[in-house]
Amino acid sequence: MSVLVFVEIDNGSIKKASQEAIAYGAEVAKMLNASTTVLALGTVEESVLSQAGTFGANKVLHAADPKLTHENSMAFADVVAQAAQKEGSKVIVMAKSGLGDAVAARTAAKLKASVISGVTELPDLNGGFKVKRSIYTGKAFATVDIKSEIKILAIQKNAIEATETGASATVEAFSPTLSDANFVAKVTDVEKSNAELSLSDADIIVSGGRGMKGPENWEPLLDLAKALGAATGCSKPVSDLDWRPHHEHIGQTGIKVAPNLYIACGISGAIQHLAGVNGSKCIVVINKDADAPFFKAADYGIVGDVFDILPRLTKAAEALK
Ligand code: FAD
Repeated sequence: MSVLVFVEIDNGSIKKASQEAIAYGAEVAKMLNASTTVLALGTVEESVLSQAGTFGANKVLHAADPKLTHENSMAFADVVAQAAQKEGSKVIVMAKSGLGDAVAARTAAKLKASVISGVTELPDLNGGFKVKRSIYTGKAFATVDIKSEIKILAIQKNAIEATETGASATVEAFSPTLSDANFVAKVTDVEKSNAELSLSDADIIVSGGRGMKGPENWEPLLDLAKALGAATGCSKPVSDLDWRPHHEHIGQTGIKVAPNLYIACGISGAIQHLAGVNGSKCIVVINKDADAPFFKAADYGIVGDVFDILPRLTKAAEALK
């Protein structure tokens, strides 16, 4: 029996959230006395795939058909289901993401499995298979007791650390049956936004709100982001006002992020913004109003003017390099 981990590939590498999914799958495999098999799809270098071993995988199944290079949840779910049957997998793990949720749901329909999305902890196997998941955009947790034979878990980002052991995994070619019916709509081209770093994968995000006063004032924020190697984000009004591009909008109606460090500059901390950032490991808030609601969600707070604080933080970050 193998715990099967479906991984997402971006720019030829295993995405960070998928590295965490492998680490999670490997821990579950240990608890179940099982092995860990990773499933990777499309065109990927074998040297990249064998690195799955460093996060705990024993083996990688590689379905290299180029038709599987672009996201296609119907085709991917079909391949995940076939891999699970081949490996006899009763637990299937993947990262929680737009693609992960779609693949998990479709795979569950094929295998008559349960799907638990937004899993935040390793399962409790005492007298069953119970997992904790994040609900209400991170404001509460639910414990779910899974009774189905096959269980699909979509893991919340930052739920587990993907530490590198230096081990490598064996890579095995996998040739699933691909049905033409799954390719009736296909991605022909992917054009990345010109953001230098993807918000959803960023380790550090520096984000600005209406307190930045206007688009012409973003330089100090961009300087700090550059000094920290961070991605940049913003509140909804900022993108609505066209001060920043829409792909930077973070929150309930924007992108949900979970970096190691989120620095909020002149953002009040409305509940709709917090809904997008409360998966962050450490939140630093800079606001001139000591009563700004964001301070309640902050690990560290700086009461002060962003235009005074940001250049000082940038100088300190540069001095640390
Ligand atoms: P403001 O509320 O105007 O706050 C600006 C902050 O900057 C204040 O706290 C102020 O003290 C501080 N400040 C001002 N000057 C300085 C200075 N010089 N130095 C330091 N601090 C300063 N919002 C989102 O962000 N994301 C969402 O996804 C989202 N979805 C929404 C969905 C719905 C259905 C609704 C109704 C609202 C949504 N909103 C969302 C809007 C949300 O309610 C808030 O209005 C918004 O987040 C406020 O943005 P802000 O904090 O940038 O601006």
